[in-house]
Amino acid sequence: MPRATKIVATLGPASSDPVVLEHLLRAGVDVVRLNFSHGSARDHIERAQLVRSTAERIGKPVALMADLQGPKIRVGKFTDGKAVLKAGDPFVLDGARSEPGDAAAVGLDYKELPRDVKPGDTLLLNDGLIVLTVEAVLGERVSTRVKIGGVLSDNKGINKQGGGLTAPALTAKDMEDIKTAMAFEADFVAVSFPKSATDMEMARQLANVAGESKRHKPAMIAKIERSEAIPQLEHILRASDGIMVARGDLAIEVGNAAVPALQKRMIRMARETDKVVITATQMMESMIVNPVPTRAEVSDVANAVLDGTDAVMLSAETAAGKYPVETVEHMALIALEAERAEEVQLEADFTNKRFGRIDQSIAMGALFTAHHLGCKAIIALTESGSTALWMSRHLIHVPIFGLTAKAGSQRRMALYRNVQPILMPSHADRDHALAEAERLLVQRGALKPGDTYAITCGEPMGYPGGTNMLKVCRVG
Ligand code: PGA
Ligand code: MN
Repeated sequence: MPRATKIVATLGPASSDPVVLEHLLRAGVDVVRLNFSHGSARDHIERAQLVRSTAERIGKPVALMADLQGPKIRVGKFTDGKAVLKAGDPFVLDGARSEPGDAAAVGLDYKELPRDVKPGDTLLLNDGLIVLTVEAVLGERVSTRVKIGGVLSDNKGINKQGGGLTAPALTAKDMEDIKTAMAFEADFVAVSFPKSATDMEMARQLANVAGESKRHKPAMIAKIERSEAIPQLEHILRASDGIMVARGDLAIEVGNAAVPALQKRMIRMARETDKVVITATQMMESMIVNPVPTRAEVSDVANAVLDGTDAVMLSAETAAGKYPVETVEHMALIALEAERAEEVQLEADFTNKRFGRIDQSIAMGALFTAHHLGCKAIIALTESGSTALWMSRHLIHVPIFGLTAKAGSQRRMALYRNVQPILMPSHADRDHALAEAERLLVQRGALKPGDTYAITCGEPMGYPGGTNMLKVCRVG
């Protein structure tokens, strides 16, 4: 069995060298994340081109995900690049301050903060390492008391416990960045801090308009990292193609202890609604500096796999860590091992479910058939990749091969759990297409003489949503 769980890796200074990037892709990266919180438009375009050319050279489908910064709320800069905050001391967050900060006060990039907080609120800085209690709000100044101190450096993020910051999900910078992302035809666009389906609809609209000249429509990923997004999950899922369990910011807003259960719920909901899901942040954190992961990290990755995530994501581990390639290698091994322990419960998956569409019913029929006959592969001849997506929402120990004539569909499928995307020339004739599909799988060693497989296609060929046929074959 090839590895089913996909790996998303963030590019950064540690991984933008062509040789390192090639090693990363070979080690198992399926989706490359460009983090628009850092770097210029030119950096991203250059990196995107490097990813595309490297992927093509080594013959591997790799998708690009543009991750928008969103309204990350940050403190300004300090005179010395940082300041030490001591527990019990007062500290002022000052929207009107333009000079660099010190141990008593610092400026803000988010001028609305004084409007969003009140005395008694808890503010968490630098990923929750520093905790401030709001004592008073006077004009543009938020006076706080340091509850947990530490070193606070330039531009660190601010979160409010329990949520409630009013910043809109899409900033002016995000709108520009969407255009940049469409210039290199990003396969996925991840939206930071959406609070509602409307945020996602707006982002999709902007992306579709920006991609129009290239006739490119990216898949939209909602990063679930605000407490307001949790009650809206169903609506947000409906407006998106997938979600990211963005545990970094989410943990700060809802509290660390609530995250594991939320992760399970989000993954389940995504799969049940035919959406993809990425589990993100601190998965292999210690490998930023160490050549091996901790036992807890191994368990975390394995548990995300067992929860059913499509992909596990690496952030600083591959962007700025000392061991980017080793991290991916470890992650791939952990995922493979966890997948082997999974128990297939296909019948239970289908209980109380109705499949009203022909293409979707055929996809389910293929799963059921392949599972019961012990097929070596399921092959989906697909235009958009949706047949493969439906199949991949169910756990089964048979690899799904998504064969498409569209490079964009192939790359998108790179994120789908248990789907191996393959590019295949389009055929108008069904028998030719079926023979070609078998030949391609035999050629890559996925099938050998005597193996049975299930294959789905649409007749006539070449129409999205046209899947209406299932055939079981034996390799001659
Ligand atoms: P970020 O998003 O890394 O862009 O902040 C992920 C998260 O918050 O977990
Ligand atoms: Mn985040």
